[in-house]
Amino acid sequence: MLNGVQTRKRTQELKKQGFYNNWPKKKFGLITFHIYPEFNVNNEWFKKREKAYTANAKLLKVKPPKVNFYLYPTKEAGIKIGILPFYTFPKLKEIHGHLNQSPGHELTHILHEKINKAGNNPKNKLWIEGLCTYLNRTGTDQKKWALSLNVKIESLNPLNNWMTHVPGDLYPVAGSIVQYVVKRFGWEKLLLFLKSLKDSLEYQNKMSLKVFKISIDELQKDWLKWIKN
Ligand SMILES: [Zn+2]
Repeated sequence: MLNGVQTRKRTQELKKQGFYNNWPKKKFGLITFHIYPEFNVNNEWFKKREKAYTANAKLLKVKPPKVNFYLYPTKEAGIKIGILPFYTFPKLKEIHGHLNQSPGHELTHILHEKINKAGNNPKNKLWIEGLCTYLNRTGTDQKKWALSLNVKIESLNPLNNWMTHVPGDLYPVAGSIVQYVVKRFGWEKLLLFLKSLKDSLEYQNKMSLKVFKISIDELQKDWLKWIKN
């Protein structure tokens, strides 16, 4: 099965070989889209991404960098050339995505790197995927979305189990945690918390106590109570 590391290696190889040179380019604001050959996409699709990027940058209070966004029609089109087209490489400022993804999720990964460096990312996946899902700009209520999944939420323990990996089909649950934190403590506190996270699991508890004045275990209990009601 392909993963993010393989996708990064393979896409950089392909780039060096000039594979993307004949892909048509379109610029929308800071985003340069590289479009899969002979694949027609409505301008609205691009504009939505540009708008999501600008709006989320404002929310996160960062200067959005220029991005290269490689657009594939489907997941299968990527697999054919040895990549999975749903990854963002923040250090490279590069996205490989497909048509049916949300407008905001991948682009928010680029912005997140501006509030907390990529080196801390492997240990804070819950918060990063939660943030990117919360800011995906689909207008979906994360709580309702999480509740609609076929999963027993009380058995998940995400705040302890998902720091290094969030199950792909359970992103809305991570999104609902961010939604809850914003609702209870406010956006500014969430930002402060996200900025302060470091490359260790213990650190999130320390920062939760400092910023939210409750432990991670309490936060999880309170979130669960909220989502179950
Ligand atoms: Zn993501």
